[in-house]
This record gives sequence, structure tokens and C-alpha cells, in this order.
Amino acid sequence: MIDAQHIRKSFGALEVLKDVSLQVRPSEVVAIIGSSGSGKSTLLRCLNHLETVNGGSITIEGQTLVSSDDAGHAHYPSDKEVKAICSKMGMVFQQFNLFPHMTVIQNIIEAPMTVKKMRKEQILPLAHELLAKVGLAEKHDFYPSQLSGGQKQRVAIARALAMQPDIMLFDEPTSALDPELTGEVLKTMQKLAEDNMTMVVVTHEMGFAREVADKVYFMDGGVMVEGGEAKAFFDNPQHPRTKAFLSNML
Ligand code: ADP
Ligand code: MG
Repeated sequence: MIDAQHIRKSFGALEVLKDVSLQVRPSEVVAIIGSSGSGKSTLLRCLNHLETVNGGSITIEGQTLVSSDDAGHAHYPSDKEVKAICSKMGMVFQQFNLFPHMTVIQNIIEAPMTVKKMRKEQILPLAHELLAKVGLAEKHDFYPSQLSGGQKQRVAIARALAMQPDIMLFDEPTSALDPELTGEVLKTMQKLAEDNMTMVVVTHEMGFAREVADKVYFMDGGVMVEGGEAKAFFDNPQHPRTKAFLSNML
């Protein structure tokens, strides 16, 4: 589903991703953990072209998003092709990013209507179905300001799903939430995983990573330090930096 190889990314003189590779298979849930500033968000943003890479290659469902020549320079296809490839991925951010002046249902149908040119009647049934799926069927005419953080995030998940992606990327989806609201969002994500959605989840929720993720990767200082099957990763971390990180988290 995702094959990212030798990704390099710098912001000015700051090298944020140093030869990072990641593979995600269909229906797999991959958790990425690591301390703040290690490059987790930048990696996700490179996967769906919110950032361009400086080197390396990314293929999404077998289609080349970016490749690099022998000199290590990155090449992207046309904007149209990039858009088509990235339309297969939905993303959920820490800060929800709902449109404040739109109701819940308007938030969900906006992108399918403007980006996919779907008619309102075409998308509404799916929008209501998705809202029910995240447990908010009765909130369709509420505005974001009338919802709790956990409810907002579940709307954000429904909104991403309305574009019918094959892959969902989550960037610390529960980090902005009060602890008592974290569970409802994690449960929604767990259901999505049970429906066989392919997911990449940057998270500090070690319980979720252990229980729901198939694979867990640990990033530190722009490097993918180690990763593997979730159970083995937690039971038997190999690298000293991973051990130090986990002992601080658990
Ligand atoms: P994480 O998500 O693991 O906390 P990030 O990917 O957000 O890490 O950031 C990695 C590093 O890149 C940090 O040092 C951060 O300050 C820097 N960084 C991220 N985005 C930008 C940007 N747009 N411009 C400059 N530096 C950035
Ligand atoms: Mg981040």
C-alpha cells in the first residue's frame, strides 16, 4: 500500500528525515512513536505530499508519488498525477481543522462536493452513514463549537472517510484531547482497523499501539531506529534508545 524508501527531508540546514524507510501492507495498522521533534509529522506529511521530499522514493498502491535519480534528486510526476495518487489517502490532524462556520454534515460533504464534484444528494447518504459509524448520527446540524474535542475529532475522521480513501493517516489524533475523551476516539479508530482500513498512526498512546497496531516503528532524531511486529517490539525492544523511550512512556 505504501512503500517509502530512503526518504530525506531538510528544512533549510536542518535535516529532519535522514534516510527513513517505511512499508505498509494492505489492511495493516502501523503505529509510529517517538519523542517530539523526531520527524514523525514530517514523515506523514511527505507521504501525502503536504511536504516535498529532498530524496528517496514513495509509491502508493503501486503508483510512484516520487522517485529519485542516481544523483539523489527527487522527481515528482505532474500535479494532476500527484493529486490523483494522494486522493487515496485521508488525513486526521491533532487540531481537528473543522470548518467552524459549517455544520457537522456540511463539513463532511464539503470535500466530496468541491474536490470530487459529487452532487449533494449523491454524498449525503454516505455522510450520514459515516456520522452514525463514529457515533454522532444525531449531531448532524451542530456546529463544531457545540461539540466536545472528542466529538470534533470523530467528525474529522468521518470527514476524511467521506473521500473514500484506501489509506488513513493519523497525526497524534488524541494529543489535543482531555484524557477522558481520548478513549472514544481510539475506539473509533479501532473500529476502522477492524473494518480492515489501512492506517498509519502517529501516537503517544502505547496501549493503542500495542493492542491495535500490527507494526510499531520508533523514530528518533530523524531516523527510523527500529520497528516490527507490535508485540515483539514492546516485549523485546532491541535498541537502547527505544528502551529508554519506552521506559519513560510506560
Ligand atoms: P514530530 O512530529 O516528531 O514532533 P516534526 O516532524 O513536527 O516532529 O518536526 C521535526 C523537526 O522539523 C523539528 O525540529 C521541527 O522544528 C522541524 N520542522 C517541522 N516542520 C518545519 C517547517 N515547516 N519548517 C522548519 N522546520 C520544521
Ligand atoms: Mg508531530
